[in-house]
Amino acid sequence: MRVDGRKFDELRPIEIIPNWTENPDGSVLIKWGRTWVLCTASVEYRSPMWQKEKDEGWVTGDYGMLPGSTDTRKRRPGLKPDSRGTEIKRLIGRSLRGACDLSAIPGWTISVDCDVLQADGGTRVASITGGMIALSIAAESMVEKGLLASVSKLITEPVIAISLGIVGEDAVLDLNYKEDSTAEVDLNLVGTLNGKCIEVQGTSEGRAMEKEDLDNLLDLGFKGLSKVSEIAKPFINV
Ligand code: UDP
Repeated sequence: MRVDGRKFDELRPIEIIPNWTENPDGSVLIKWGRTWVLCTASVEYRSPMWQKEKDEGWVTGDYGMLPGSTDTRKRRPGLKPDSRGTEIKRLIGRSLRGACDLSAIPGWTISVDCDVLQADGGTRVASITGGMIALSIAAESMVEKGLLASVSKLITEPVIAISLGIVGEDAVLDLNYKEDSTAEVDLNLVGTLNGKCIEVQGTSEGRAMEKEDLDNLLDLGFKGLSKVSEIAKPFINV
């Protein structure tokens, strides 16, 4: 039995609220159990030098946890983000670029900012999933302004993500903080809406993994991706 009574393959309730704030081109509040993340996508006419040469645009990711998002106050990072934040923001950026054809937005950059309002495990996978929806809303706004022919020109393979791990002896889907803090293995899987894999991040934090553990986790992870896909799909208009 899990700490919150869920079955091994049961997700926490996921609620997606588009347009939660009004200023950005795209905005989504994603409530994934007690993990709440505000994801915004902002379109600007600029692109990194190396992309200009290629005549492509760019999509970036950023990530932060608000001071009150954790059990004990998390200090603001100041000018230098912590290494965990840097790792997560790079994962978000890579994942979202994996969904995009950047040649559809030459000269433009879309910045996807993910700010954790409340953390209870799985903040990076909530950020990727919510960030993808915010990005698709921003792409719709580019279409409305005549800057992009259609959302699907930019977003060719929408992405989503799920966390899972081994807690005690059991492989379980969608770890909350209590489970995450005692997990033997922690794995994050980024995939496409139609069941393909974009990135795997897996770490043994207690005991080393057998190949069989990893095989089982991947099976469970793909099952998790398809569950998240069902929930996210209606919000991604490609
Ligand atoms: N956490 C925290 N303070 C921190 C970092 C993490 O309280 O500075 C908690 C938070 O609930 C987070 C969880 O630990 O969701 C798991 O963190 P991890 O680094 O595994 O990333 P996540 O699962 O959020 O993607």
